[in-house]
Amino acid sequence: MADMLKFVGVPQSYPAKRPAELRAEDFREIADRYATPSAEEQSARCSQCGVPYCSIHCPLHNHIPDWLRLTAEGRLREAYELSNATSTMPEICGRICPQDRLCEGNCVIEFSGHGAVTIGSVERFITDKAWDEGWVEPLIPGRPRGQSVGVVGAGPAGLTAAEYLRLAGYDVHVYDRHDRAGGLLTYGIPGFKLEKHIVTRRVERLAAGGIVFHQGADVGGTLPFSELRMRHDALLIATGVYKAREISSPGADAHGVVEALDYLIASNRKGFGDAVPAFESGALNAAGKRVMVIGGGDTAMDCVRTAVRQGAASVQCLYRRDRANMPGSQREVAHAEEEGVEFIWLSAPEAFEADAGQVTGVRAHRMRLGAADAGGRRLPEPEPDSGFRLDADLVIRALGFEPEPLPAMFGTPELGVTRWGTLRVDHKSMMTSLDGVFAAGDIVRGASLVVWAIRDGRDVAEKMHQHLRARRSVTGERIAA
Ligand SMILES: Cc1cc2nc3c(=O)[nH]c(=O)nc-3n(C[C@H](O)[C@H](O)[C@H](O)COP(=O)(O)OP(=O)(O)OC[C@H]3O[C@@H](n4cnc5c(N)ncnc54)[C@H](O)[C@@H]3O)c2cc1C
Ligand code: SF4
Repeated sequence: MADMLKFVGVPQSYPAKRPAELRAEDFREIADRYATPSAEEQSARCSQCGVPYCSIHCPLHNHIPDWLRLTAEGRLREAYELSNATSTMPEICGRICPQDRLCEGNCVIEFSGHGAVTIGSVERFITDKAWDEGWVEPLIPGRPRGQSVGVVGAGPAGLTAAEYLRLAGYDVHVYDRHDRAGGLLTYGIPGFKLEKHIVTRRVERLAAGGIVFHQGADVGGTLPFSELRMRHDALLIATGVYKAREISSPGADAHGVVEALDYLIASNRKGFGDAVPAFESGALNAAGKRVMVIGGGDTAMDCVRTAVRQGAASVQCLYRRDRANMPGSQREVAHAEEEGVEFIWLSAPEAFEADAGQVTGVRAHRMRLGAADAGGRRLPEPEPDSGFRLDADLVIRALGFEPEPLPAMFGTPELGVTRWGTLRVDHKSMMTSLDGVFAAGDIVRGASLVVWAIRDGRDVAEKMHQHLRARRSVTGERIAA
């Protein structure tokens, strides 16, 4: 057995990042991968403490100390198998989880001032290694059950549920309105955080395991929801949240004021080599422009860093709270700053100026943090007489997302929603108000994280399996349309 507890003698060391000026020139991931000796050495820093807070604070409750120990012992295949036992996408979580708020932020040796074990980087290393070595097994469907499941949405929640349900022997059909599966993994999150072949190989494995993908299937649009209810014994809605929050400021309809996801999708499509007219025309391309991104979440961070890579003349980010109170990851802010992004904290837009309909600048004012709201977060309020102006040729709105009106879109007014428009599900069964129709991921939680979508996908697959087993006695029954 390997010596663990090396955290006193071995300093914390993340895989090296490429220099900022080089990484700003392409959309490749910014961090290198560990070489095997470093991964083993870093894993051996784990203190194997009695109460694994890392695991408790990982939404998947991954068996972190155990796979760290196996990695430290050089038993990499076993480490991979254990990490894979609780996650459908460990290499993806290892790359894009905000570990500072989850596993690593709760590592005991972080608390003792030695710097957390680099859990995410090790997780990424062992699963990438497994792909390289051919240890990732094909998806072998379970004994056929003669029942079929429809999954609406091919993001991490839908893909995870699809995988577990296929393993359990169901016919699984995944419907997605995009032309590629992956949800925000494919079209939201940029390649410098998650290279697309990592997502594609996961999707290809699922398709090879017999999951049928229906891309370009706009449920509630060209494909009626009622038709899916006739086709399948149970349905999962995992459609995410896509309605962009608006800015009401005057001039927000000027040419050159664009929505974050349109901008990121165009960039990701270019990465796939697609023809994107709105990029080619310059409308969704930051090259040579003075770019202003409004917002302080992960989407805003992805936009500023994309603009840098597209060759913007300057990139600024305007956010109404301060650095300590922003929702985005501190790590991502640091990356953006290294890459030359300027943050303008405690500031909010007032109006957009335009010349002949084309945006030329943003009028803004300073904010200060006032009393805390019910959730304990201090509310920003305007500073009197603090107006200022900034030049901008491209303004990207990144103020977050809300659910689309699914009951209206699907023609099912009886589909229950919360006051935020997210789908209401029964806590125990994860079923919506429609019999046999389940929901998971962002459409239930509101905008959240990939790791939570995976967790929900895992849980909902189990609930759907219970439901379908119970219904099996009613041979041939379909859920009522
Ligand atoms: C720009 C950006 C960056 C992010 N960065 C991170 C990060 O670094 N780390 C992290 O953990 N999380 C991040 N997130 C959040 C994360 O991506 C989401 O929480 C996660 O993808 C939610 O998974 P999901 O499966 O619920 O939905 P989604 O990934 O949104 O997938 C939903 C799918 O449903 C499809 N769909 C929607 N409506 C229909 C319909 N009517 N018919 C057919 N198909 C439909 C969509 O096309 C999509 O493919 C980021 C989000 C954004 C927007
Ligand atoms: S899934 Fe995310 S939170 Fe869990 S161990 Fe991996 S990186 Fe940490």
